[in-house]
Amino acid sequence: MKYKMNPEPPLPPHYMEVLIEEEELRIRVQDLAREVTENLGERDPIIVCVLKGAFVFVADLVRKLDFPFSVDFLRASSYGDSVVTSGEVKLDLDLQQSISNRHVLVVEDIVDTGLTVQYLKASLEARGPASISICSLLHKPANNVKLAPVDYCGFEIPNDFVVGYGLDWQGYYRNLPFIAQVHQT
Ligand code: 5GP
Repeated sequence: MKYKMNPEPPLPPHYMEVLIEEEELRIRVQDLAREVTENLGERDPIIVCVLKGAFVFVADLVRKLDFPFSVDFLRASSYGDSVVTSGEVKLDLDLQQSISNRHVLVVEDIVDTGLTVQYLKASLEARGPASISICSLLHKPANNVKLAPVDYCGFEIPNDFVVGYGLDWQGYYRNLPFIAQVHQT
């Protein structure tokens, strides 16, 4: 289904097609919450939201979890405003709490080349956590240059640029309740 925001954001000419509907997201997030509960429900984990793109996913996921845990935030950037990865990852904002001897669940919006997840995992492992697992709403397997260690994956998607449900294009479209493919024209 085609989608058009009205008025349109100030972006290069494009059209958009819905890839994952709101209801599909809701059902899958519930499944993921069940899997997370089975594995971490008695481990008092720290849930790490990778800003900015994962904020909507994390907000929905944590409201489906009914056990003790805390939430912390970090910000990694690899893209800037481009739609193509720069291949460089930076930690722009770090966690506030120690993860030493704690079980950590890193929640990402999307794994594309796998570089961000690989970098984050290595950086957090050096802090002596009890365990680290990775949850990503979306995964583009076609682009993995690193074997991405995703323990909980929402959807595998084609190698196209997507927005919505927290994911942006130059800051826009994070508010869409679905995932849409962007086709530049
Ligand atoms: P990776 O390091 O795996 O190549 O890229 C991960 C990051 O790139 C994601 O956290 C996300 O910020 C960005 N990214 C990758 N693919 C897309 C996409 O299709 N749409 C958007 N909006 N961001 C993407």
